[in-house]
Amino acid sequence: MQEIELQQQMVSWRHYLHQHPELSFNEQVTSDYIASVLLEHNIEIHRGLAVTGIVATVHGKKPGKSIGLRADMDALPIQELNEFDYKSVHDGKMHACGHDGHSTMLLGAAVHLKKNNNFSGTVHFIFQPAEEGGAGGRVMVEEGIFDQFPCEAVYGMHNWPGMAEGQFAVHDSAVMAANETIEIVVKGKGGHAAMPDQCVDPIVAGAQIITALQSIVSRNVAPADSAVISLTVVNAGFATNVIPDEMHLKGSLRYFKPEVGTEANRRMKKVVEGIAEAMGATATLESRPNYPATINTPKHAEKCAVAAGMVAGDDNVHRNMPPSMGSEDFSFLLNASEGAYIWIGNGEVPEDQPQGGCMLHNTHYDFNDDILSLGASYWVQLVTNILQ
Ligand SMILES: [Zn+2]
Ligand SMILES: [Zn+2]
Repeated sequence: MQEIELQQQMVSWRHYLHQHPELSFNEQVTSDYIASVLLEHNIEIHRGLAVTGIVATVHGKKPGKSIGLRADMDALPIQELNEFDYKSVHDGKMHACGHDGHSTMLLGAAVHLKKNNNFSGTVHFIFQPAEEGGAGGRVMVEEGIFDQFPCEAVYGMHNWPGMAEGQFAVHDSAVMAANETIEIVVKGKGGHAAMPDQCVDPIVAGAQIITALQSIVSRNVAPADSAVISLTVVNAGFATNVIPDEMHLKGSLRYFKPEVGTEANRRMKKVVEGIAEAMGATATLESRPNYPATINTPKHAEKCAVAAGMVAGDDNVHRNMPPSMGSEDFSFLLNASEGAYIWIGNGEVPEDQPQGGCMLHNTHYDFNDDILSLGASYWVQLVTNILQ
């Protein structure tokens, strides 16, 4: 195992970032801190893409092709409930997805490769803002990251709680799902609860729509494909003796293949409009695409698996783990460039943490410092293998 020797420094960077979490496109302190570490090590940086983004560049001893390595920097609007000394000092903000760890591992790799640049080519280290819903990855692509910093391939990595430390997972194709927000408005005719015959009850129509939508995944999506329709917000009514005029529903649609998303949308519209009409009401459906699916290119997934195997041992690289229905804006980078995105184990979830202690987006989550060096070593190994 070729682990790099920056462990102590990486822990202190990680704790500083953890203590100062910032939300999407507001990662000013975070970006300044990362830039200061890079400059301290004489690494060339470019700032300003997607507001707070940084692209740091390290050249090898010989010329060759260029690749990109990406980490995300943003935190979540969550009140941290951890009590350790580096807990968040920003009320209501928390690094609950481990992006503090991702930025730190990439920093560690950049500092190490600057000192040990015995490779041929160029590495662009991409510190990206706004992964958590802000589509910072899309903004970086739209602002021309790959025109300014051409990359033959781009690679990403996310920590994965529940997978043991010391392990990686590499998918040959789909890793994370596409994600759309669904909004349904059911319009009826409100009135007295005692006189339903003189009203059109949007709640009864909406309730049937909720139930009928459940059949789309089970009856219209091919069994070998995957999709999720979750309705997560239901709003209607204000008094026990009043039938309201409207019912509002919101939720999430997830899938991997674009054609599955198109068909799910077509069926949802039919169900929503058809049931409303049958009940004497009207209803509209709006879908808003958020992130596309994160799909690896097999040849790059193979390079990632080889590098992960060299630092962790081949037995510690999972090649058949199911993809997640969660989503990730690294997809925008993968739609603009070839590449792959892998998971690094953040450690098993301890049984004595019934609230989900180390699960992503949990108030008790923390990135595992013990994997910093392994993650940074993986980046170094990947660069060494590809830019020989
Ligand atoms: Zn997250
Ligand atoms: Zn994340």
